[in-house]
Amino acid sequence: MQFDTPITIALSKGRIFKQSLPLLAHAGIEAVDDPETSRKLILATNHAQVKLLIIRATDVPTYVQWGAADLGVAGKDVLIEHGGDGLYEPLDLGIARCRMMVAGREGASLTGQRLRIATKYVRSARDHFAARGQQVEIIKLYGSMELAPLVGLSDLIVDLVESGNTLKANGLVPLEHITDISSRLVVNKAAWKTKHGVVMGLIEALREAVQRG
Ligand code: ATP
Ligand code: MG
Repeated sequence: MQFDTPITIALSKGRIFKQSLPLLAHAGIEAVDDPETSRKLILATNHAQVKLLIIRATDVPTYVQWGAADLGVAGKDVLIEHGGDGLYEPLDLGIARCRMMVAGREGASLTGQRLRIATKYVRSARDHFAARGQQVEIIKLYGSMELAPLVGLSDLIVDLVESGNTLKANGLVPLEHITDISSRLVVNKAAWKTKHGVVMGLIEALREAVQRG
């Protein structure tokens, strides 16, 4: 691919960065530094015009919405909470797959009014229970949700589950599936127009990489 215009791509460290690398490589983009060892927040690539921003997973949609990054890779969980203003979401990258689940102690009740739900995913949790007419009290947390039911902070949690080992290690079980999660390519709406050629080229190269598996 030719990059005849500056392009900035926002990514988070960890699983999303690692799993995005082979997809980006298919589009001819290779990072010069490794974010796990470098402290740089702006990573150069093999193309002078292409830069990677390394930011918190939950901040990716915000950078893209405001055009500080042209494109980004964000989990569907994060995109649901953000709301999607100012973004297009043209491609499911199929990486960082997991499930959003309701979890709690074995046998915990999922019904009843005023259940307390501890979660980072306030919007997803509220919508899930509201869809069946259940009013719940949402307690916003920023991490380690598994602790909440153990110390009586909440009846249930809404969290992401991959193997279920973290739940199990804390005496909790998955009780209900909310939705499947994977990471998506997001594009700033203005960049979609002004950098159309490069953006489309990148989307197509990534789509091909995803299809090849
Ligand atoms: P931070 O660690 O900075 O607070 P975070 O925990 O959301 O943020 P990660 O753990 O790197 O960041 O998760 C990034 C994305 O990867 C999540 O938004 C989600 O889409 C996905 N993800 C999270 N947990 C898992 C998991 N256990 N398995 C697979 N994908 C996951
Ligand atoms: Mg994390």
